[in-house]
Amino acid sequence: MNDPQQYVVIGGGLAGLASAVWLAEAGKQVTLLERRGRLGGRTHALEVPALHDIPDNGQHVIASGYDHLFRYLTSIGTREFVRFPHQGVLRWPGGRTTIMGIKGIRALRSLLGAHPDAGPADRARAALATIRMGWQCLRQPADLADLTTDQWFRRLGMPETAREALWDWLALGIAAEPVRQESAKVFADVLATGIRLGLEHRQPVSIGYPTTDLDTLFVTGAERVFEQRGVRVRYRAVARRIRIENGIVTGVTLDDGELVPADAVVCAVPNSYLGGLLDDLPEHDEIYSAADKLGFTPIVSTNLYLDRPLGTEGAMEALIGGADIIDQVFDRQRMHGRGTEHGWLYCLTTSGAYEQIHKPSHEVVDEQMELLRRYYPAAKDAKVLHAQVVPMPRATFSQVVGTDGLRPGQRTSVPTLVIAGDWTRTDWSATMESAAQSAARAVDLLLDLPTPRVAATTQRAGRSDYSRSARGRGSRK
Ligand SMILES: Cc1cc2nc3c(=O)[nH]c(=O)nc-3n(C[C@H](O)[C@H](O)[C@H](O)COP(=O)(O)OP(=O)(O)OC[C@H]3O[C@@H](n4cnc5c(N)ncnc54)[C@H](O)[C@@H]3O)c2cc1C
Repeated sequence: MNDPQQYVVIGGGLAGLASAVWLAEAGKQVTLLERRGRLGGRTHALEVPALHDIPDNGQHVIASGYDHLFRYLTSIGTREFVRFPHQGVLRWPGGRTTIMGIKGIRALRSLLGAHPDAGPADRARAALATIRMGWQCLRQPADLADLTTDQWFRRLGMPETAREALWDWLALGIAAEPVRQESAKVFADVLATGIRLGLEHRQPVSIGYPTTDLDTLFVTGAERVFEQRGVRVRYRAVARRIRIENGIVTGVTLDDGELVPADAVVCAVPNSYLGGLLDDLPEHDEIYSAADKLGFTPIVSTNLYLDRPLGTEGAMEALIGGADIIDQVFDRQRMHGRGTEHGWLYCLTTSGAYEQIHKPSHEVVDEQMELLRRYYPAAKDAKVLHAQVVPMPRATFSQVVGTDGLRPGQRTSVPTLVIAGDWTRTDWSATMESAAQSAARAVDLLLDLPTPRVAATTQRAGRSDYSRSARGRGSRK
């Protein structure tokens, strides 16, 4: 006989970690199953063994509106490791820079386009287009889901200077897709969330960064909570199928055939890892099909140790002028206050990296150095002391035109089975906040049930979020 309070969380990424921490905080008995030998999922520290250094699998930035992520950081005691600088730096080839306010009223000014070549007419057009854009985020045109972000920007009359200095790379950063294929609706929805949160918090949403490695930020504190609250973490435990009998969750089968007993399950795996897990769920076909269509998009991160400083002006610099990719340079000396005994560490992130993902590491490093030489005069004679390339072909789910409305909600037709993860329906695109918000919603659904067993037997006719969203879409047509 199972313990009637046994909760199982599948997946030790942010969504699973937050679910396990919050269920444990609520006094539940929790087992966390993770297929790998470590926690953190797509956000983790990555060692460079030759240097005994631990940069990350990819630099992550954090928006001030990440309310659920901050709730998680507060739960695990690492909230202090996030900093919000007052300004960002835009850099053009040749080394020309513009400072962009990213906090308070200066952030609003940057919305009008921080391009050094923008004249008064350009700025006036940018202001009008930005107001139009804000309005259309809140009152979305009926055909927005059929447009790419590029088409939407053109229709809004956004001048090229404002696009180059802000909107194109912001859109790419938000949805990790080039603007020529990204869904305008996905971008508009995230902007609408930003506007709402800006009004709620009475200040515009700004961008910050961790001042420590991702394991210290997200994992170590969670492990402390797990120890204190008796959460059992099982590493290299690959879940194969969530067992449901007569509308009741009974357990999770692992790939070696073991059945882990469960009365309630949070399934927090990415869309590309879902296959088979939900076979017992009546609506599994629809969810698998949505997960499939959401697909994935690549990101390539490069950690470069150089023999000299680049002469950055800020901790985060966006390199302007690339075609369809965003390149950001993160100066880990400024961000983490790190020493330079192994050289100066710069982390570069290339989103929408459809070409780079197929290249061998040495080619990526050569390309990135060439890029740095174009943008930083100090990089001309710089030597690479060490380099680490982290290709992530399935970095996030894809948010191209046609993906709007596919993301399933956290509720399923079986009340004691909920799904979480950045790809499930939230107010955000594929982000850490989406993972944390999905966890908050999934956990709330479980905690709202009287007890898992009672709930399962009394709510067998429960309706899933997915079927509700599918009906909603149908009726709009
Ligand atoms: C390079 C890079 C840069 C990024 N930059 C940013 C950024 O700047 N800002 C931002 O907000 N977001 C960023 N993101 C996105 C962010 O990292 C993700 O949205 C978030 O981490 C997803 O968390 P998750 O818990 O939903 O999924 P994951 O982190 O993928 O966690 C899922 C976990 O489930 C485990 N698992 C899978 N299948 C099974 C199974 N069958 N049994 C047991 N365990 C299983 C996996 O091993 C994994 O640990 C970036 C992502 C990448 C890759």
